[in-house]
Amino acid sequence: MKLFDTHAHIGLIHEDPIEQLIITQEARQAGVEHIISICNNLHDFFVVYENLSTATHVYHSIGVSPSEVSYPGKDWERKIEEGISLDRVVALGEIGLDYYRKFGNKDSQIELFISQLEMADKFNLPVIIHNREAGGDVLDILKEKLPERGGILHCYSENWDFAQKALELNLYISFAGNVTYRNARNLHETALQMPLDRMLIESESPFMVPSEYRGKRNRPSYLPATLDFIAELRQMPKEDLAEQLYKNSLKVFDINE
Ligand SMILES: [Zn+2]
Repeated sequence: MKLFDTHAHIGLIHEDPIEQLIITQEARQAGVEHIISICNNLHDFFVVYENLSTATHVYHSIGVSPSEVSYPGKDWERKIEEGISLDRVVALGEIGLDYYRKFGNKDSQIELFISQLEMADKFNLPVIIHNREAGGDVLDILKEKLPERGGILHCYSENWDFAQKALELNLYISFAGNVTYRNARNLHETALQMPLDRMLIESESPFMVPSEYRGKRNRPSYLPATLDFIAELRQMPKEDLAEQLYKNSLKVFDINE
């Protein structure tokens, strides 16, 4: 059984390059065959990319997250282009809108989001989307600007009603450890109703640790707990669920094995 962690902040789990490699090896031993490494800013992207250069089972996403809207860095567009040209860079993200923490202001977040959606389209990449309390604006923008290759609503936090609107745009929905939380009824309903061919899972480590590891810092090797929970919820063999999710992951990132 092979799993694919579509979203891990390896650089935030540990700063040390050796520890970062160990995290990716340990994930593989736990059945997590591939990981998408995510960074919130471009400086961290290039550092982590270099640290993980020998971890060829790890793929990378590049982008400026809404948390960095006030500090995208000099020449950020040129740097994204430079990153995109590297091996195993398979997505643009995470990008999106975060109205919960009020980074910068709405207009500057929207502007940064749209310019990166346009870049993804230009460079033929899918996008990994962060949405926190900005669902309406995220969907409105994606209706106009979703790149050809599509996108993933990562660390899904909305309800089933919202998911149906996202599915009309052919988005993928990725569940993190918070789906395992007992009171997350909207997530349970969505994970139960979702068509399997649009579903992904992710660790979102070091955040969103699955409930059975409560109190620990999340790591990609804990991803099986999220798979188990969803398989149980849908009353299906976890091997079948894992196989479908793995297939979806290869497809969205256009990875050939
Ligand atoms: Zn993230």
